[in-house]
Amino acid sequence: MLDLQTRCTLAKDIVDLRSALSYLSTIPNQLLTTREPVDPHAELAGVYKLIGAGIPVAPPTRIGPAMLFENVKGYDMQVVTGVLASRERTALLLNSSVERLPFELLRALNQAIAPVVIPQSQAPCQQVIHHSPDLDLRKLIPAPTNTLQDAGPYFNLGLLRAEDPETKEADVTIHRLCVQGPDLLSVYFVPGRHIDQFRIKAERLGKPLPISISMGLDPAVYLAACFEPPTTPLGFDELTIAGGLRQRPIELVDCVSVAAKAIAHAEIVIEGEILPQERIREDIHTNTGYAMPEFPGYLGKAQAALPIIRVKAVTHRHKPILQTIIGPGEEHTNLAGIPTEASIFRLVENSMPGRLLNVYAHSAGGGKYLAILQFRKSSIRDEGRQRQAALTAFAAFSELKHIILVDEDVNIFDTNDVLWAMTTRYQGDVSTIFIPGVRCHPLDPSQSPEFSPSITAEGISCKTIFDCTVPYHLRDKFQRAEFIEVDLARFLS
Ligand code: MN
Repeated sequence: MLDLQTRCTLAKDIVDLRSALSYLSTIPNQLLTTREPVDPHAELAGVYKLIGAGIPVAPPTRIGPAMLFENVKGYDMQVVTGVLASRERTALLLNSSVERLPFELLRALNQAIAPVVIPQSQAPCQQVIHHSPDLDLRKLIPAPTNTLQDAGPYFNLGLLRAEDPETKEADVTIHRLCVQGPDLLSVYFVPGRHIDQFRIKAERLGKPLPISISMGLDPAVYLAACFEPPTTPLGFDELTIAGGLRQRPIELVDCVSVAAKAIAHAEIVIEGEILPQERIREDIHTNTGYAMPEFPGYLGKAQAALPIIRVKAVTHRHKPILQTIIGPGEEHTNLAGIPTEASIFRLVENSMPGRLLNVYAHSAGGGKYLAILQFRKSSIRDEGRQRQAALTAFAAFSELKHIILVDEDVNIFDTNDVLWAMTTRYQGDVSTIFIPGVRCHPLDPSQSPEFSPSITAEGISCKTIFDCTVPYHLRDKFQRAEFIEVDLARFLS
């Protein structure tokens, strides 16, 4: 049960997960709480698919409230999912608006604030401490399996924090963690990710890499952590952006068992080391062949050889809440997509000020594959610049696959309106730009040589620009029918 003494009624006062949930509980239809016993093995995700996961989860699904499961079968801990599974709720939690979210992240990036370290005695995440070997992850924390084909139970909102073994620069990133034993986790890094580069350095030195895994966090921390290069290059501590979002430093605490720091206000922290040279097959205990549902909506393949984390301690709050994401859906879209929007806006704005009005990393691409750009052509000399903006967006985020360009009178957050533009302001043969043979994010299954003769290897894609803007010299023919402005209140009272 939520402790109502921590009741939070203003978004600006959110400091952790439970103040965020307390805040949501004051707003209609944003937090659903159930006492019905739920099995973390596939049932919890099955429930949330219907309540609020959203596309690309297979229909039937919808965008809905976050959901707190107070009674998880076999465990004392509660589980919450879907905290960021609506753009409207994400905006509420950041004290922003649906349209302004990427601009809020950019403000935070420009006003970044470094984290501070607080004493262990003041860190809520260390109220209860379990040391190895007197702990069994499998019994202590209700890690969900999202489908019956998952390789095992996963922590998939674990915020890893580690430091470069040489430069001591810090990085925070979410990586999927499969529970492989009482004190063992496997960790999957997409190639190139920053903490993996720290791990490779440590391995070359023959050393383990100490890490913390913080779970159940202020939503601002999760969002900031999802920035990627070039906006946040290697060595850039994304927690400084979270500090910028909240306009106060994020508080860290020294771990109790390893030389690492964790988020002091986390619900749960797993402390451990990534072991050099050791690897594990992700589905070693289940042999399902699959990992878990990935952001494009398909089951990911189990990885053959993943790095291993040896857990040294687990610390948590009194009555901790495990936070989870079920895989694909609106929550992934917001986590991945809003930082992507900020990155695209920043680079295009720096290149051609005042033309790009807004950008939306659409749910259909999980926040990564599809972006809709709203572009204003102010003169005939702006004709063609919209396509340059699209090329710049590809440079801002290398995993983008499709870009839809629309004019300023189209609502980029209304897919009906975007498809209207694609229907009435687009001719396939002249409005489509193909850029074949470019590397993209590896999880799109259409990116295979069997699918297309222009694809030479897995992960290569044909990036495409759909230019649904009106050619500037034809703009008079494309005025939308205008209706008069009315005082609606009179008709609703
Ligand atoms: Mn990074």
